[in-house]
Amino acid sequence: MNTQEPDLHIPRWAWIEIDISALQHNIRQIKKLIQPKCRIMAILKSNGYGHGAYQIAKAALSVGVNFFGVATVEEGLDLRQKGITNPILLLSQPPFSSIPLLLENNLTPTIITLDFAKELNLLSKEEVKYHLKIETGMNRIGLHYHEAVNFLKTISNLSNLKLEGIFTHFATADIPHNKETELQIERFNQAINSIRLEGIDPGIIHSANSAATILYPQSHFDMVRVGIILYGLHPSVSTKNKITLRPVMSVKAKIAFLKEPQSFEGVGYGFTHKVSPNSQIGTLSVGYADGFHRILSNKFEVLHKGRRVKQIGNICMDMMMIERTNGKLFSFGDDIVLVGKQNEEEITLDELAKLAGTINHELVCSLGLRLEKLYVNL
Ligand SMILES: *Cc1c(COP(=O)(O)O)cnc(C)c1O
Repeated sequence: MNTQEPDLHIPRWAWIEIDISALQHNIRQIKKLIQPKCRIMAILKSNGYGHGAYQIAKAALSVGVNFFGVATVEEGLDLRQKGITNPILLLSQPPFSSIPLLLENNLTPTIITLDFAKELNLLSKEEVKYHLKIETGMNRIGLHYHEAVNFLKTISNLSNLKLEGIFTHFATADIPHNKETELQIERFNQAINSIRLEGIDPGIIHSANSAATILYPQSHFDMVRVGIILYGLHPSVSTKNKITLRPVMSVKAKIAFLKEPQSFEGVGYGFTHKVSPNSQIGTLSVGYADGFHRILSNKFEVLHKGRRVKQIGNICMDMMMIERTNGKLFSFGDDIVLVGKQNEEEITLDELAKLAGTINHELVCSLGLRLEKLYVNL
């Protein structure tokens, strides 16, 4: 058996490839769905859905997207430290204790409560922009849509605060022609109208996530907040024939060890798989700590020379095994695709998410945690 190492300058024989041209393609497709005046906010929370927030921000900037959204102050801070100077909205109201940090770093907070508004006003020495989050039915965070006008009147004397935008978020926008989503849009419009009637300028109005951007054009307003479709993944089967996306992330590995055990020997912790006759077992240096949830054990397939082969045995923290039964075609160092295309065959994140009982959003976040990211097609 040949154990000569191929010449590969990577520290580990498993990695993620992030296709920057695919991201740029997706943004161009998104632009076709919206009015020319409508802006795009690129959602970069959870390290850009596991893709690397900074690199995604740079790529988005290169195609004219210059407004970003993150979940936490740390995420905003990380982008600032790497040199991103564009507006960054914190999608929810952070703790009071983080106010000095967000002010220092020019992160735009979302405001939901009067106490937070007062504290922010007190601690800021100059004008600070904020967005108001309105609750229209998801029952997660936000100020009830009936209370929006009074709230804005109440805080109008907090002279450092400048309303830059108003937004809401949908619970069921992945379902086309959905009554609940339509009701949320109606309540949001009600709130906006009453704010305008009071002579208050609501600023940038935004509500659409990826699903609503595709399925509910009436929810676009002044800006759409897109996450999952930036990364080339669909929020629902209903969006698949409405936009052509290219997946940005793929996961690759090389066969790091090769074995030809006796038939019916066990493989891995708990021996949940017995070796098939005349087969080869390859070991890959990627495991559940890299986002291949253990629940996927013995359930999924990977690509070898453009063919599907089975993952077998329990997935370990840092490794997993695969088996080739139809001819001894594995060689040490062979290229394996765990997510993405090889020749004509493809393993999609949707396929894996379904097997893992989750959604593609969760999988990309986990896959991005530890594997090294290689940026390609820059
Ligand atoms: C995460 C998030 C988005 C983006 O959602 P996608 O479904 O990934 O497009 C938009 N708005 C808010 C408030 C979010 O938290």
